Amino acid sequence: MQHRVIVLGAGYTGAFAAGRLARRLRREDVAVTLVNAEPDFVERVRMHQVVAGQDLKPRPLREMFAGTGVELRLTQVTGVDVGRKTVAVADGNGAGELAYDTLVYALGSGWNAQGVPGTAEHAYEIAGRPGALRLRERLARLDAGRTVVVVGGGLTGLEAATEIAEARPDLDVALAAREGLGDRLSPKGREHLRKVFGRLRITVHEHAAVTGVEADRVRTADGMTIPAAVTVWTTGFAVHPIARATALEVTGTGQIVVDATMRSVSHPDVYAVGDAAMVIGPGDKPLRMSCASGTPTAWQAADAIAARLTGGKLPNAPIRYFNQCISLGRKEGLIQYVTADDRAVPAVLTGRLAAVYKELICKGAAWGVANPTFGLPARRRRVTRERAAAGSAVRSPA
Ligand SMILES: Cc1cc2nc3c(=O)[nH]c(=O)nc-3n(C[C@H](O)[C@H](O)[C@H](O)COP(=O)(O)OP(=O)(O)OC[C@H]3O[C@@H](n4cnc5c(N)ncnc54)[C@H](O)[C@@H]3O)c2cc1C
Repeated sequence: MQHRVIVLGAGYTGAFAAGRLARRLRREDVAVTLVNAEPDFVERVRMHQVVAGQDLKPRPLREMFAGTGVELRLTQVTGVDVGRKTVAVADGNGAGELAYDTLVYALGSGWNAQGVPGTAEHAYEIAGRPGALRLRERLARLDAGRTVVVVGGGLTGLEAATEIAEARPDLDVALAAREGLGDRLSPKGREHLRKVFGRLRITVHEHAAVTGVEADRVRTADGMTIPAAVTVWTTGFAVHPIARATALEVTGTGQIVVDATMRSVSHPDVYAVGDAAMVIGPGDKPLRMSCASGTPTAWQAADAIAARLTGGKLPNAPIRYFNQCISLGRKEGLIQYVTADDRAVPAVLTGRLAAVYKELICKGAAWGVANPTFGLPARRRRVTRERAAAGSAVRSPA
C-alpha cells in the first residue's frame, strides 16, 4: 500500500516540497499529489512587474511536473479535516474529498487590508495574480498626471512604487509609509533608496499611517489627505482562513505553528511551509513571509518527511537570512546584506549590478521550482511497511 502525501498549494514552497519528496521517495512506496487552484506556477515575486505591463513567461504546472512522479490535481481546496485526514476540494466538476497519510500545507497568503476602512472598496492589491492584473488594467486606462499612491514602505511597496514610476513617468507616483523611507535598511541602503526615488520623482510621505481609503484620496492618522486616483495597498500579507478553521494549532494570524522540521506541533501528520507556517528562526524571531526563507522551509519539510518514512537522519540545517534583494525598477536595485536574523549590516550592492543580481534570484527561484532536486543525489530508500503504517497511524490528539 502506498503512503499518500498530499501537498496543498503549488507556489514556491509547495512546488519545491512536492518535487523534492518525489525525488527522495520511491514511487511504489509513496504517492505524492500536488493540489493547486491554478494550472500554472505564478511567480508571485514579480507581481509588481505584471502591474507595470510586463508579461511573464507562462509556466504550466503539468509541463513542470511531467515525468517527476508528482500527480497534479487542479482544484480549489475548501477545507481540511485533520481528524479524518481528508482535504475538501471543489471545482467545476463538483465537490470531493482527498484522503492523506501525510499533509504538507503550503497555501501561501494574500493581501492584508488590516481592517482599514475603504480598502476593500477602493484599494488595489498585488499579492496575487488576479489583483495584479486588475491594477495593470486600471493603470493602462489612467491618464497622464494622475496620482498613484502606494501604501506601505516594506519591500513590496518599494518595489511597486519604483516599478510603476519607471514604467509610467507621466504619472505622479507617491509612497505613504508608516515609518521613515527604508528605515530598516543600512545608512548606505537608505541613501541609495532616496537617490533612486528622487530620480524617479516619487513623492514620499513618511510617518504617514493610512487610516482610510476613499475613491480619490487616502487619509492618514494625523489628519492629512493625500490625493489618489489609484491606491495600491501593500502593507504585508495575511494567510488564508482555511488553517484557522481546522483543529490545528495556529497563531493569532492564522499561521500553523510548527517545530524545526516544519511539523505541526499539534498534529504530527501535518507539515506547514512558506507563508502559511509560523517558523521560529535565528534570534528566536518568526521568519517573515518571504520566498527567501520559505524555500528552505520546503526543503526542511520534504527531507524530514522522507527521513521519517525511510528511517533516515532528520535534517537540521538552520534557516537564516543572507540579504534582502530589492528591485527598484528594471535598471536599478538594492541588495541589502543582513545578519542571520534579518537585520541590516552596513554592506550593500546597488545600481545595475544589483538589478541583475535580483533578476538572477527571481529566475533561479522559478528554475528551482521546476528542478527542485538539481544536484541532489536521489536517496530513494525503501519505506518499510511498518514506517508507512506508523506514519498513517499517527492520530491527531482529540
Ligand atoms: C509583489 C511581490 C514581491 C515579492 N518579492 C519578494 C522578494 O523579492 N523576495 C522574497 O523572498 N519574497 C517576496 N515576496 C513574497 C513571496 O512571494 C511569498 O512569500 C512567497 O510566494 C510565499 O510562498 P508560498 O509557497 O508560501 O505561497 P504562494 O507562493 O503564495 O503559493 C501558494 C499557492 O497556493 C495556491 N492556493 C492558495 N489557496 C488555494 C486554495 N484554496 N486551493 C488551491 N490552491 C490554493 C495558490 O494558487 C499558490 O499557487 C513578494 C511578494 C509579492 C506579492
